[in-house]
Formats: sequence, C-alpha cells, structure tokens
Amino acid sequence: MVLVIKGLTNCLKIGIKFKLIAFTASLLLAVILFLSVAVLNGIKNYQDKQVEAALFKQKDMFEQYFSESSSTNDNAELARGSIFNRPWLRTIPASVYDTKGQLLSGFKTDVKLNENKEKESMIKYAIAGKVSYIRINDVVYFYSPIKYKNKSVAILELEYSVKENSTFYNNIKKMFYGTGFLALVIGIVLGIIYFLGLTRDIYIMKNSVENIEKGNFSKVQQIKRKDELGELSKGLIFMSNTIEENIRELKVERDSLSIAVEKLKKMDKQQKEFIGNVTHEFKTPITTIKAYADLIGMYNNDLVLIEQGTTSISKECNRLTSMVDRVLSLSALEKYDFEIQKKEVNLKEAFEEICQRMMGKIQKNNLAFQCNVEEITATIDEESLRHILINLIDNAIKYNKSGGSIAVEGYKEENKIMITVADTGIGIANECLSNIFEPFYRVETHRSRETGGVGLGLALVEKLVKKQHGTIKVESRLKEGTIFNIEFPA
Ligand code: ADP
Repeated sequence: MVLVIKGLTNCLKIGIKFKLIAFTASLLLAVILFLSVAVLNGIKNYQDKQVEAALFKQKDMFEQYFSESSSTNDNAELARGSIFNRPWLRTIPASVYDTKGQLLSGFKTDVKLNENKEKESMIKYAIAGKVSYIRINDVVYFYSPIKYKNKSVAILELEYSVKENSTFYNNIKKMFYGTGFLALVIGIVLGIIYFLGLTRDIYIMKNSVENIEKGNFSKVQQIKRKDELGELSKGLIFMSNTIEENIRELKVERDSLSIAVEKLKKMDKQQKEFIGNVTHEFKTPITTIKAYADLIGMYNNDLVLIEQGTTSISKECNRLTSMVDRVLSLSALEKYDFEIQKKEVNLKEAFEEICQRMMGKIQKNNLAFQCNVEEITATIDEESLRHILINLIDNAIKYNKSGGSIAVEGYKEENKIMITVADTGIGIANECLSNIFEPFYRVETHRSRETGGVGLGLALVEKLVKKQHGTIKVESRLKEGTIFNIEFPA
C-alpha cells in the first residue's frame, strides 16, 4: 500500500524541466495575446477616428458651400437639390434628402440599406438635428442635417467605404497571429534548449547531493557555469571536500583511539601477567627457603641436611636478589628516563672490561671466547651497555654446550653501531623466538631454573636497547647456536 502511494506521488511529481517550459510558454502566450489585442485595438480606434473625421469634414464642406451659395441661389434650386450637384463637392459618395426624407440629389448605392428600416429612423434622427452613422460590412452610412442659420435645410447621406481600412486591419491581424505563433514556437524551442541545459546542471547538483549523503565523495561533480548555479556548485564541492576531510580525520582519530585502547588493554594484561609471574616466581624460592629452615630446625644434628639446606637457602637467596634487582630495573625503565646518561664511550675499552669480568665464568664452563671490537667511539649510556652485554654473554654461557664457543663483535656500519653476541649453544626453536623478550618467558623452565634464570634478562636487554633508540634481533638454530644482533644509531 505504502509502495503504491509512493509510486503515485512520484507520478504526480512534476519535474522542474516541465514546470519551467510550461511557465515560459504561458508567459510568451500571454505577452503575445496582450500585445496583439492592444495593437489591434489601437489600429481600430485610429481608423474609426479617421473615418469619423473624413465624414464630418465632408458634412462641413456641404454646409459651408450651402451657406456661401444660398444668397445667390433660389429656393427652387435648393428644393430640387440641384444646388448640390457639384462633382468636386463630393469627395465621398453623397445623397441629399429634403427635410421630409425625400431624395433630392445623389444616387442609391445600397439598395438593401435604402430598403432598411434603419435608414428611415436615421433620417428621422437627422431631421431632428442629430448626426448618426452605422457600419454595415465595409461601408459606413452617415446621416447628418445640413444646417443653415441653425436650421436644418436638408439631410446629407454619406456612404463611406472602409474596405481598405478593414483589409489593412485584417492583414495586420493575420500578421500578428502568424508572427505571434512563430514567436511562440521559437520561444518554446529556445526555452526547451536553455532549460534542458539548466535542468541538466540542476540534476547534476541533485545527484552530487545524493552522493554526499551516501559518502561517495569521488562521484561529486562540479558544473562549469559563471552564474549563481556555478557558485552553488563550487560551494557544494567545497562542502563535500570539507565533509570528506572531516570524516577522514574522524576515522584517523577513531583508529588511533582504538589502537590506544588496544594498547592500554594489552598493557593492562601484561601488567596483570607480570604481577602474577612475580608472585609465582617469588613464592618458589621462598617456599624452598622456608622448607629447609623448618627441616634444619627439626633435625639440627643432621649435618648433611644442614649443609644441603644452607647451600639451597643461599642459592635461592641469590636468585631472589637477582630477581628483585631485575624486576626493579624493569619497572624503573618502564616509568623513568633518568637512568639513561649518554656520553662518548670508547667501545673497545668498554667491551674488553666487560669481557674480562665474564672470563672467570667462561673458563669455568670450558668455553672458547673471542672478542673483536673496532677502535670506535659511540655516544651511549655505558651502564646500559654493560647490562646488555653481561646479560647476553651470561645467556651465551648458560645455554651453551661443553667445549662450545662465544664470539662478541663491535663495529661501525653506515652510521650505525653494530654489536653481535654469538654462541654455539643449544639454540632456540623457531616458534619460541618471538616470545623470548617477554618477561618471565623461558624456553626450558627446568634448565633455566638449574642455571638460576628467571626469564627477565632479555626483557631487560630489549628495554635498555629501545631506550637508546636501538633495535635487537635474534637468529637461532636448534642445537647449533644463537646470534643476537644489536644496532644503535651512531
Ligand atoms: P633467563 O634468566 O631464564 O636466562 P632470559 O630472559 O635471559 O631469561 O632468557 C629467556 C629465555 O630465552 C631463556 O630462558 C632461554 O630459554 C632462552 N635463551 C636466552 N638466551 C639464549 C641463548 N643464547 N641460547 C639459547 N637459549 C637462550
């Protein structure tokens, strides 16, 4: 039902194209009709006045002639009407009647009128001293008294042909109708041509508005006109561009907002996991310490137990201390910048000093060691560099194989300081590589526990590298070894 009503309304909806053409046609028609009526009326009035003037002039001539010649002519001549028989006097066909209505002089031109009752009444009218005239077809019949000394002495009848006038009038009328019709047709054709162009531009703008509504900004078209419609179209394009720009900005803002929300969620999750891990990792050594402390308390004369217990308690205490250090360092790095103090550092000297510190552990594990560093300097935080190297070399020792080797390198390449720490150890499985920088992540928990690892070393290393705008990458092959590559801007 709703669809039917909608369809009907659409059918009844008259387009602007039709409205404009209909309006122009009616306007033209009205103008042509008004002009025709006004001009034709004017011509008719003018012609009527001309005829009237000619008739009265003729009458005046008769009267003047009569008054001039009445002194010289006798009444008998007047009675016969022969006084008026002067051809030069009759510029218009004329007849003269006496005051009783009897024809004195002249001719009968229109039998019908003479037989007509109207003629009788008009003669009577003239006898009464009044002028009257009537038009029948293309002839005007004029009746007037000829007065002498204010007395009607005869009746003048004039038959004035207005054929030329009416031919002229009819020709003008035909011309008006012909040219009017032509003007109307030309006007409508020109109107259609002009309004088609105009409405085409209006439809283009209408489509543009619909495209803006739908968000199809690329389909918005500009029309090339120098009038108000052209300005309107320019305004539309400006509006469309502004809306598109605003929408784009809004999308960017929305995207960055959702990225920020995601980041916050991730951070929140990481924080919870971190706290969970901290709690768990702290509980294990504390449980061991507590268990040994209780056992030693119960069996204080068991020397073997006491020795085992104190060794374990000391080992777990070391673990706890290293864990506390690293957790504190990690959270400090997360929050503050104050620890980064960059200065010009001689890399060769710094590396050699660190390697020297690690030599004891390396030899204890029966590993070969190589340290190749170019004589270069770098603007870097020395303390951070020390932490990074110690952690990486420590891992290279812990996850190595007996008789394996470790190689440390430092050099400059394309404005970058490159540091590599490579070992021939147990390697890391591909699927674990992406996780090793996560706090508390360990590939083999058992081995890691044995070596005293808590999974915080690489997390700390990554944070320290990033703090100095560097990058760290790892390449590894299971059972063959691992290489850590670090890049710092020089
Ligand atoms: P951990 O204190 O356990 O050593 P790290 O954060 O330093 O923690 O390292 C995370 C995990 O990555 C380690 O548990 C170990 O499984 C793996 N790993 C790190 N360095 C190496 C390496 N050089 N060779 C093999 N595995 C390594």
